[in-house]
Order: sequence, then structure tokens, then C-alpha cells
Amino acid sequence: MDYLPIFCQLRDKPCLLVGGGEIAERKARLLLDAGASLTVNAPNFNAQFLAWEQAAQLTLIRGTFEPTLLDSVWLVIAATDDSDVNNHIYASANERRIFCNVVDSPERASFIMPSIIDRSPLMVAVSSGGSAPVLARLLREKLESILPQHLGKLAALAGTLRGRVKKRFHSMSARRRFWEKLFVHDRLAQALANEDSPRVQQLTEQLFSAPLEDRGEVTLVGAGPGDAALLTLKGLQQLQQADIVVYDRLVSEEILNLSRRDAERIFVGKASGYHSVPQEQINQLLAEKARAGHRVVRLKGGDPFIFGRGAEELEHLHQAGVPFSVVPGITAASGCAAYSGIPLTHRDHSQGVRLITGHVKHDTDLDWSSLAAEKQTLVFYMGLQQAEYIQSKLIEQRLPETVPVAIIENGTSTSQRVLSGQLSQLSELAQQASSPSLIIIGNVVGLREKLNWFAPSSG
Ligand code: SAH
Repeated sequence: MDYLPIFCQLRDKPCLLVGGGEIAERKARLLLDAGASLTVNAPNFNAQFLAWEQAAQLTLIRGTFEPTLLDSVWLVIAATDDSDVNNHIYASANERRIFCNVVDSPERASFIMPSIIDRSPLMVAVSSGGSAPVLARLLREKLESILPQHLGKLAALAGTLRGRVKKRFHSMSARRRFWEKLFVHDRLAQALANEDSPRVQQLTEQLFSAPLEDRGEVTLVGAGPGDAALLTLKGLQQLQQADIVVYDRLVSEEILNLSRRDAERIFVGKASGYHSVPQEQINQLLAEKARAGHRVVRLKGGDPFIFGRGAEELEHLHQAGVPFSVVPGITAASGCAAYSGIPLTHRDHSQGVRLITGHVKHDTDLDWSSLAAEKQTLVFYMGLQQAEYIQSKLIEQRLPETVPVAIIENGTSTSQRVLSGQLSQLSELAQQASSPSLIIIGNVVGLREKLNWFAPSSG
């Protein structure tokens, strides 16, 4: 270990910063955030420093650096653009055994500043010891994306509960289980994010009174249409907390691999040649696993509330008294439209979108005359098999045969394929496509010529 990471308590402690430019400004911001009593020395200062001085947030000392400025400070940061001056500051600080950071020059510094992810009071610091700052920054960005904004609030809440938890639970392991339950409690997190204090209090009380083993719940998560990067941050966070992931055919391997390595994965979709698990059995499975105390993520392609039977599963959980929450996903219509350059609405061409299941039984038929109305976009899910019927019904209702149509196969993935033509060719195009495919019908499809930007590697 080249450096010992420590977190310094600088509140009201005199600290010195040397430099008055942009880099110094960044360091000043950090020191001010940490509550240091800050003195800044430089011949000239930028406007921000002057504003801080005016607001009495720090003291400016104009002029060149003098070692006596170090006399009463705890630490110093050298942030000038003159390496001789920086050297001089470092040597003087070393003599006095004062910790000194020299910006951009870790080899001449007695402390370095990490990249930080600030979820105060929770703080994560990342450093490569100066050897690969870009790598540290990339890692920071990654952590930034997986650590929810509300974590700070959760940590603060935990701080207020510590005494009570100590009194209530006598063994270390009981306390640990309590904390684990609290930190992965999605509804509590949401209440904190909403600053809904009565709800926070109610959920906290429930946590204290419920048995420690009882931490099961189900989160219905939309995985998006294909490209794993379209999973939401919240979906990712849920996936990483799940003990069990119950998933469908449309969920990509790449997304499944984002779950914890020790999480159990249960496939309930339809594999080729096999029937899918009956819905009733899936409903029961979810309730059973949650009741056994597991955190279950029910992962579905696209958005779980759009032709995903998500509601049916939740109704069952509601009846069974199992707590649940929902994380939306990018539905195939949005994903395929974006990745094929077809805007679903457009001021000149389409004032509305209809998301329709093509899985229609002819006896419970759709209102075809309203579907054939002008200036709207029709999006058929599961429509390949019925393409001929869709085509003939729309033409029968006087939607022009020349209206552009597109079939997007494996949308948003590297194997995306787009077949386009006119309404009169829909059934012919459908014969060339395979599942999963989405049918888009409307004048907006014509914009693809100009707006198509996505060129998948294999397509
Ligand atoms: N809940 C999903 C839809 C499930 S129904 C969602 O919101 O997207 C399954 C149908 O969705 C498929 O038959 C197909 O029409 C469409 N679909 C899902 N993923 C797709 C993809 N990557 N490309 C094209 N169509 C897709």
C-alpha cells in the first residue's frame, strides 16, 4: 500500500491553499465543503475567489507565497502553475511536518486527493495513487452510477437509529441483519428520496417490529428491449441486490450477468420446443420465494406494464400480502423507434401513438376504423403472425396502401434488422422477419431515411 486512505476532519481548522486560478478554485470548493477555515494566497484571484471573499467564506492574502503562511495551518494545497513555487511550498511544508498536496504532482506531495463519490454522510474515495488518474475517474463514474442518490439520506437515517438498534437487538448478527434489511428496502429508499417523513417513519417502525428473517419482497424490473445499456440505473441497483432473479426469454444474457454472482437465476420463459411455465405457476413461485425471505427480482423484457403481464403477477402478490415495487423499462416501441430513426410522434406527421397487441383473436377484434385514422403512429407488438390480417383490415378501413411501414427485428441489439416498405407489402415483409419483431405503421416511418443513425455490426 503506497498511501493510507484517511478521512480528515477539517471543520473550522485553518488550511492554506496557494493559487488563485481554476484548479485552485476546485480545491477551494472541496475544502469549503469540508468546512475548513480557509486562507488562500496568490498574487491574483479569479472572480469566484473574489465572490467567496465578499461572502466572507474565506480569507484572501494577495502576494507571493511566504513560508510563514504555514505557521498555523493543518494542511496546505499547492495549486499554482509555477513548479518552482509549488516545490518551495512543498519543501517548507515538509520542514514543518504539515501535510502538503501539490496539484498534478503526486511524487512531490505528502498527501494526494482521491476521486470522491459524495453521498454525505456516506463517502467513497477512489485513488490509483497517481499512476492512472483516468482509470480512477472512470471507476468513479461507474460507482457514481450504481450508488443511488438517496444513499446519503439512508446513511443519515441509519445514524439516527444506531442507539435504538443497539438497545433493541443484543447480538451483533441480529443487528447486522437489521441493517441489511434497512439498506436494501426499496420502499423506504423511495420514501427517503421523496422526503416523505411520515412514510419513512412508518416503514422504519415496521422494520423494528417485523421478524428479522422477513425481508422478502418482489421487484418487477423492466430490462429494456435488448441493448443492455438501456437498463435503468434503478433496475441495475435492484438487480444487484436480488437473491433470486426470475426472468423471461426476452431478457439478454448481458443483463442477467449484471446480477450478483451468487444470485439464483430462474428461467420461466418459453425456450424453443418447450412450453413456457404457466402464468399461475410463476405467480406462485414469486410469492413463495418472497415469503421465504428472499429479495426477488422479476425481470421482464421491455417495460413490465406493456404487454408484459406484469399487472397479473402483482395482483397475485397483492392477494398473497407480499410487498412489491415496480421499476419501469424502455419498451420495445421506444427502443426500436430510437434505434431505427423513426420518431413515434412528429409535429407534421403524427399526433399520437397507439401501442397494440397483434396477438388478436378475430372474435375479440380491435376497433380497426379508429386504428386507420390519419396522423397517428401504430405500433404492433407480437404482430408477425397476424401481419396479413393487420394489413387487410387497415386497408379495408381506407388507410392508404402506400403508408410506410417498418418491421424491426431484434431492435436495439447488435443484430437489429429493419425491413421497410409500404402497407401493401406488410405481410410479405413479415414473412422475412423472425421474432422478436415490432411493426411500426405511419408516415413517421418515412423519416428514417434521414434520421437513421444506428448501424449494428452484423446488419
Ligand atoms: N414488455 C415488452 C413487450 C413484451 S411482448 C416491452 O415493453 O417491450 C413481446 C413483443 O415485444 C415481441 O413479440 C415483439 O413484438 C416486441 N419486442 C420485444 N423486444 C423486442 C425487440 N428487441 N425488437 C423488436 N420487438 C421486440
